[in-house]
Amino acid sequence: MAERTCAACDCALDGDSIKVTIGGKTVEVCCEECAQKLNEAAASAATPGRG
Ligand SMILES: [Zn+2]
Repeated sequence: MAERTCAACDCALDGDSIKVTIGGKTVEVCCEECAQKLNEAAASAATPGRG
């Protein structure tokens, strides 16, 4: 289970992965689209001013 997978779509990363930092955590995704998905999810999860 040493294989790295995309943090967004869970597909196998082929060495050519993209690193994105979400909430201080660095994760790897397969493409820019997945990177954007994570960014949007993080943005909606962390609503400013509430909580
Ligand atoms: Zn992906």
